[in-house]
Amino acid sequence: MEEKSGNPLPYSGVPTYPHQQLPPDPVNVVPGGVIVQNPIQPNVVSAIVVSPPVGPKPSHMTCQSCGAEIVTRVEYKPSTKTHLIALALCSLGCWCCVCIPYCKDSCQNADHYCPNCDSYIGVYSS
Ligand SMILES: [Zn+2]
Repeated sequence: MEEKSGNPLPYSGVPTYPHQQLPPDPVNVVPGGVIVQNPIQPNVVSAIVVSPPVGPKPSHMTCQSCGAEIVTRVEYKPSTKTHLIALALCSLGCWCCVCIPYCKDSCQNADHYCPNCDSYIGVYSS
């Protein structure tokens, strides 16, 4: 007789909230379990200066200061690790070996500079 409206379920007039009918998440009820929110704000992330990846050896790249294609000039400088190795050698009694970490490039930080405009590019920490 009557035409179907296409909606077989009668409308009760009360909105339903399916997420309230779900059982509680077991992760949330574990004693001592703490849900840690990510404290890093997006504006803080954008403030981090990304330096180009450089290795322990001179690298071929485009200088961001002068725009020239360069092979970086590397200056090796002692790092905290260098001093720690020397200190360890001292404590072991290897006095003759103390100078070795200061002579080995792999034990030092590699500062990369542009040979064209002399601008600082980045550092490689071993
Ligand atoms: Zn340059």
